[in-house]
Amino acid sequence: MPEAFLIDLDGVMYVGDTPVPGARDAVKFLEDQGHPFRFVSNTTRKSRHTVAGRLRSMGFSIPEEHIFTPAAAAVSYLSENRRKSAFLLTTDEVAREIVAASGIVHHPATAETVVIGDAGDRFTYESLNEAFRLLLEGAELVALERDRYWMGTDGMMLSAGPFVAALEYAGGKEALVMGKPSPAFFLRALASMGAEPGTAAMIGDDVVTDIGGAMSCGLSGILVKTGKFREETLARASHPPSAVLPSLADLPAYLRSLRL
Ligand SMILES: [Mg+2]
Repeated sequence: MPEAFLIDLDGVMYVGDTPVPGARDAVKFLEDQGHPFRFVSNTTRKSRHTVAGRLRSMGFSIPEEHIFTPAAAAVSYLSENRRKSAFLLTTDEVAREIVAASGIVHHPATAETVVIGDAGDRFTYESLNEAFRLLLEGAELVALERDRYWMGTDGMMLSAGPFVAALEYAGGKEALVMGKPSPAFFLRALASMGAEPGTAAMIGDDVVTDIGGAMSCGLSGILVKTGKFREETLARASHPPSAVLPSLADLPAYLRSLRL
């Protein structure tokens, strides 16, 4: 019986701009039952503040501290490893969030670490070349995520992955990945609420990055059939989920059935 929960946002709490019916009540159930939980998102363009605001506009009142993103994982990593300065190749709001929470300075001249996320228009020849030169001088490469692409409002958009791959190729070193499906991401999200993998579950709509990623580091995996769920990908899953639910709304009934 899982005690603590990691809950994916996109496709689980909402699809597009529409909240999943019953999702709010399911979260309220977890609160009422005293289950600790975190919302996890692989977004690297937006700060937790912006993510919380978007959730509020859909009727979910979720405090920023309950949201865990690759930038939050990077803050843990930079703090634990006592990094002082970094080159932050991210959007402005994510750079501000990392600086405020980790205490590092964005200072290319002394950077020990290059942090790269989906920086959108900040990916230029100049900014990528600056990162490349720092790698040659010995800086480590920390990737917030390495997704290939995402669906924007007017078509497919390059995510951070292709740029991470370019820097790895030129710099001759592999990136340390902060976001899903990296095991460190799930473990850091659990650590942020003092939970252990053996008594935690990840709830997601992606059988590979959410379920496979979490189950490979000891969590149970609850797949929901909303968002990007497809029967074909479930049939091919390397880690069959611990449970498959029609939607997050079915979580309270599922947890009650485990207690019987
Ligand atoms: Mg999702």
